[in-house]
Amino acid sequence: MIVVLSKHISPHDREMIRIYLRDRGFALREQYFDDAVIIGATGKGVVDFQELRNLPGVEGVKATSKPYELASRDTKREDTIVTVGPVTIGGSRISVIAGPCAVESKTQIHETAAMVRESGAVMLRGGAYKPRTSPYAFQGLGMEGLEYMKAAGEALNMPIVTEVVSPELAVQMKDLTDMFQIGARNMQNFELLKKVGSLKKPVLLKRGPSATIEEWLLSAEYLLASGAWDVVLCERGIRTFETYTRNTLDISVIPVVKELSHLPVLVDPSHAVGIRAKVSPVALAAVAVGADGLTLEVHPRPDEALSDGPQSLYPEQFERLMRDIEAMAPVVGKELLRTPGPRYGRQTAKTQEGGLSVKSSDKVAFSGERGAYAEQALMRAFGEDTPRLSTASFRAVFDAVLEGSAMAGIMPVENSLTGSIHENYDLFLQYPDIAIVGELKLRIVHCLLGDPQAALDDIEILRSHPQGFAQCREFLDQRQWQLESYNNTATAAASIAKEKNIHIAAIAAEDAAKAFGLKVLKAGIESNPLNYTRFVIISRKIGDKAPPPPPSLGSDPPNKASLVFSVPDKPGSLFECLKVLSESGINLSKLESRPIHGQPWRYLFYADVSVPETTHIFEKILEELKTKTEDFRFLGAYRASL
Ligand code: PEP
Ligand code: MN
Repeated sequence: MIVVLSKHISPHDREMIRIYLRDRGFALREQYFDDAVIIGATGKGVVDFQELRNLPGVEGVKATSKPYELASRDTKREDTIVTVGPVTIGGSRISVIAGPCAVESKTQIHETAAMVRESGAVMLRGGAYKPRTSPYAFQGLGMEGLEYMKAAGEALNMPIVTEVVSPELAVQMKDLTDMFQIGARNMQNFELLKKVGSLKKPVLLKRGPSATIEEWLLSAEYLLASGAWDVVLCERGIRTFETYTRNTLDISVIPVVKELSHLPVLVDPSHAVGIRAKVSPVALAAVAVGADGLTLEVHPRPDEALSDGPQSLYPEQFERLMRDIEAMAPVVGKELLRTPGPRYGRQTAKTQEGGLSVKSSDKVAFSGERGAYAEQALMRAFGEDTPRLSTASFRAVFDAVLEGSAMAGIMPVENSLTGSIHENYDLFLQYPDIAIVGELKLRIVHCLLGDPQAALDDIEILRSHPQGFAQCREFLDQRQWQLESYNNTATAAASIAKEKNIHIAAIAAEDAAKAFGLKVLKAGIESNPLNYTRFVIISRKIGDKAPPPPPSLGSDPPNKASLVFSVPDKPGSLFECLKVLSESGINLSKLESRPIHGQPWRYLFYADVSVPETTHIFEKILEELKTKTEDFRFLGAYRASL
């Protein structure tokens, strides 16, 4: 049963409701839900609904139709994002956990941890206590193994997850692990669930090999009702008549469970298929179907593994899989979560040289309102809970970063259907203290949004950013609507919510419909589904140097740089520049010319180039390039997104 409290309830009335429910035999969990506080009352209590409804401060009472209440989406509509130390699981990120089946030795766990981290895993897995089918098989190193794993995780800034097999061990392991794993065989060990739940640590709950969805969610309910908040579900294959694969991955369970529950869902393709060569394709399928991440077995030498060698990936296979996941994630509207480093932003201001006083801020600036594509890109790059500064224009994003009211900003610079957004490129020339520190590609699915009462046939006027119109050209060519330009798509959507006119629609993201209570009249109206926008992350230079990229984008060294230059007005001058690049083995991935304002028929060249691994070689190449150009501006070096 769910009791919704009034937003203005007094502390006294709230306490009276708690006492009332506890006296009648309920266990209580309070949480915020759409700005209101709700109490989830579970257990065998009996209550007079009418009497409860009439208590001061009670807004409503809902009897849930599901046997699980705290795990149900009826109780909490928005997705739960679980945090394990610096790592998040859920939301728009794909979080990958990797490591060996079992901790075998100190060196094995350190070696594996370093390898999987290098390829992009954000958490380390490994069993210290192994529930094996045969009593004669390797049972794990126990507490000693856990100590090794904790040390490896700490050394590499990776939280660890390990299986707990008994309530007594749960207590002993509590301070050594960051997350408990309840193994498939123990999914319905209710005493274990109650004990682990009461320790209030994050839990990864595997689905039992023959558990129904309802049984699985009821096990999650045990954990939640006993006190755990951070519960992640994990599908790892179920038992069917098929014996070729170790288990059968129930791929359809992911969208089903995500609808029934707000909890994040991971997939363990290793235990699901049990055959190394089949793990990667199945892992990609899991991402495609909406999993919030994966847990995978990787071993430096699988043939020597003491358990589950045949299903453990070689480090090279894991690395390749991570690249494929990274490439695929934007197609399903997600981004691969990178190993978070030290907190970004504040340190930047503190380490400022030369006494320049730039105000420190935690915010990241974007142009537009809630629901803007730039806001989606911002959340992908920095994380959902990043404080945001919404601004009215792209220039205002530069201003905010320059004067320090934002630690960074996000700017769209190029679209796969319509090309470069020149006015944003031009801003870089006007702000020499701003550098590009990262990039991110976002898939853009445009929707036609209208008043909740509107139908497609009512529309006469259409509002959007000119890019929105351009990317939906084919859809618009079939209609005679009057077009009105706005600074960005979300502002166009917001104007419709304000005016409540059924004849006006906007081209914007589905998120904007949610943010402003609008109706999606038609989804996916972009001219081609392969519609991506490239955003760059901008930051203020410290002295002459650009600050590091947000840790969430990873700590890999830059491999791409953006430059702007003009060349003398004489034969072969551009060729001379390109020759420098070509002879140094630098790849030119983009070259574009732009008119120079105030100098008709003279042009600036915008170039994207590859960055060699050795920094001083690159600096030399740039020095040489400068001698061949007239104006030369280095916009920044950063890690290319796929
Ligand atoms: C494991 O992840 O180490 C494991 C034993 O998995 P499961 O409980 O899913 O069999
Ligand atoms: Mn295993």
